[in-house]
Amino acid sequence: MPSCKSWRPKDHAKHQPPLKPGECRSCWTPCRNPVDRGTVRCADCLELLLSHPDSAVRRALINEEGVTLDILIRLAQDDEYAVALAAEGALELADSSETNTQDPGFDPWADR
Ligand SMILES: [Zn+2]
Ligand SMILES: [Zn+2]
Repeated sequence: MPSCKSWRPKDHAKHQPPLKPGECRSCWTPCRNPVDRGTVRCADCLELLLSHPDSAVRRALINEEGVTLDILIRLAQDDEYAVALAAEGALELADSSETNTQDPGFDPWADR
């Protein structure tokens, strides 16, 4: 079974709120929870990141590859306007790419 590849925020007594990965190694710990095949992050890590006090961390989820609509919908309700706005933008993009793939591939008004 594959394991979660996510960094997981953890309590660090030295300062609040936790810094981003790379800025402080003690605020984050690699997670090794088992996850389903094709999933990179376990539900625990996702929950911790979605409720992370640093809006930059929540915002980073929006731009992540493989972000799901559920995550975007949730972040569109974010207390921080910039995060909510970015999530809404990503939702619109996801929406339009979905309509594009369902396009039958011809234009009924084209002169043939
Ligand atoms: Zn720290
Ligand atoms: Zn995890």
